[in-house]
Amino acid sequence: MNNERNNNPGPGKEGGDKQSPKNNAWFALAIAIAVVVLIGTIFNQVSQSKYTKTTYSDFRAAWLAGNLDEVQIHPDRIIYMTKEEAAKDPKAQKAFFTGMPAGGDYLAMANELEAMGVVVDKQIVEDNSGILLVLYYAGMLMISFFMIRMLMKRMGNLDGGFGKSKAKVLMEKQTGVTFADVAGQDEAKESLKEIIDFLHNPQKYADIGAKLPKGALLVGSPGTGKTLIAKAVAGEADVPFFYITGSDFVEMFVGMGASRVRDLFQQASKVAPCIIFIDEIDAVGRSRDNRYGGNSEQEQTLNQLLSEIDGFDSTKGIVCLAATNRPEILDKALLRPGRFDRRIIVDRPNLQGRLDTLKVHTRKIKLAEDVDLNKIAQQTAGAVGADLANLVNEAALRAVRHGRQAVNQEDLLVSFETVIAGTEKKNTVLSDTEKRLVAYHEVGHALVSALEKRDMPVSKITIVPHTTGALGYTLYLPEEEKYLSSRDELLSELRGILGGRAAEQVVFSTMTNGASNDIQKATSLARHMVMLYGMSEELGLMATASVHNQYLEGSVQMDCSQETAAKVDAAVQKLLNQSLEDAKRVLTENRALLDEISEYLLLKETITGEELMNFVEKAQQKEAPAEETAAEDAE
Ligand code: ADP
Ligand code: ZN
Repeated sequence: MNNERNNNPGPGKEGGDKQSPKNNAWFALAIAIAVVVLIGTIFNQVSQSKYTKTTYSDFRAAWLAGNLDEVQIHPDRIIYMTKEEAAKDPKAQKAFFTGMPAGGDYLAMANELEAMGVVVDKQIVEDNSGILLVLYYAGMLMISFFMIRMLMKRMGNLDGGFGKSKAKVLMEKQTGVTFADVAGQDEAKESLKEIIDFLHNPQKYADIGAKLPKGALLVGSPGTGKTLIAKAVAGEADVPFFYITGSDFVEMFVGMGASRVRDLFQQASKVAPCIIFIDEIDAVGRSRDNRYGGNSEQEQTLNQLLSEIDGFDSTKGIVCLAATNRPEILDKALLRPGRFDRRIIVDRPNLQGRLDTLKVHTRKIKLAEDVDLNKIAQQTAGAVGADLANLVNEAALRAVRHGRQAVNQEDLLVSFETVIAGTEKKNTVLSDTEKRLVAYHEVGHALVSALEKRDMPVSKITIVPHTTGALGYTLYLPEEEKYLSSRDELLSELRGILGGRAAEQVVFSTMTNGASNDIQKATSLARHMVMLYGMSEELGLMATASVHNQYLEGSVQMDCSQETAAKVDAAVQKLLNQSLEDAKRVLTENRALLDEISEYLLLKETITGEELMNFVEKAQQKEAPAEETAAEDAE
């Protein structure tokens, strides 16, 4: 019995890694036999355990003494009841069993016993009982065989294999895409040039002892060209390109994803130097902290991925590129140095970027004289590369429909409406009033920060609608890495965050939902100041919260009495209100500057920190003499 159980391997990931479908059938048959024999044996044991075992001699003695009351003759055993036992109370009765002697003649035995007046259970004595039994077992065998086959097919996802990497990894020997096919995205290209050089000549880097990053993370909205850029890197470096999506790794059965990851890296190392591109890495790279609903399969897959990335020899020239539009949910372990530590932003294109994209995609298209790509680029604020590629193609199709030889301006304008306005107008293409609001909001942030000398310098302001919902954004660039922040610095940061809402209130006397993210950020910062940094007058030094999972997400949990919690809320509110008032005051005092920069931003869509500072400095120079006279007046 034990043997049979051991023959019955659980369908594990290793068990059938390299089974052909035919082998699998035998495997299923073996399991089916094992199961049926197992059940039969157990059944037998259970049914026998009701009876007391005796020897054949005991049975024979009872027989000869005329002591038998009832006998059941089975092909392999005899069950009998003695007269003594039959006379007892039914609950206390004992029946006995013993083996049937080999070659024993059932019928003769039954007749003899019957002649003696013993009750014989005739049905079982029937000769065909053996055949019935065989049929019964055969039926059971077939049913379990098919059930097991079905189960196996499900596990192997209908191809009959367990965890063998499906041919979902796309490998292109030559992508045929180069940087010339990628319009705009200059910063992204710049950051990737080094990787290309490395792929051309890994030895050069190895000789000096330099370690190149093993991976880079491409972050940006869908359709901004992340896949395209990754392919272009492979094309420029003239190496093979492996493509897989994160969701391909994650399967229903634990262990499958991990084995796919192993497989992918094995394939890649055979043809190195090469590029592995993992699209939508957030599907596997989700934080292991359960806040975003990970699961153990995904966790195993991620662990495998991490160990493969750590494991491969970077001098061999494998570079792992990954794309995501949700960098915030990625596990911190993925972003550690030596893994995907380079983060390359693939932005929505600005005016120039859109124009370049249109140029790239119209290269092979016949254009009529009247086409003005510049105008199309101006109109398509918020569109990503994929939208523009689609737009050009739609326009070409429309030209064919109308029987023309070339695409004209009207084709482009009409397809713009179907491609972008038709689907995404509400989200990404803004009305003029909305645009003004967004411009003032962003300049509000930037100007408050710029006038606060303590705060981080602004590097870029844009009103090109950006990743999931943000209509514009202000990018800050820290001059140096900072480990300590004083209370004044934090307060000044708070004013910068609230500068957007302040501008809405000062200029339009309104409030928009566009500030909701700012409010969350500001509240969180104010809470930290009050609860963790001891920076409020009300609560002083007392810490009223603790940080959990510092190495994962660093979530903060309140841990104080309810009365104190109410005080915390009041203190946080006071900080926020004070900062908003301060920001509003700053903007009111610099209203002319706010207007000037906002108008300029509306025109250009994206301005740099330098341009911003030029405005600010010019205004301050003009103001300086005026301030002096004011000071003199006061005296
Ligand atoms: P993502 O991977 O970011 O979702 P893709 O790389 O799949 O986007 O882009 C889809 C298509 O959009 C590309 O095949 C290309 O035709 C077009 N495209 C996107 N960005 C650009 C760009 N910067 N220049 C040229 N074409 C682009
Ligand atoms: Zn804002």
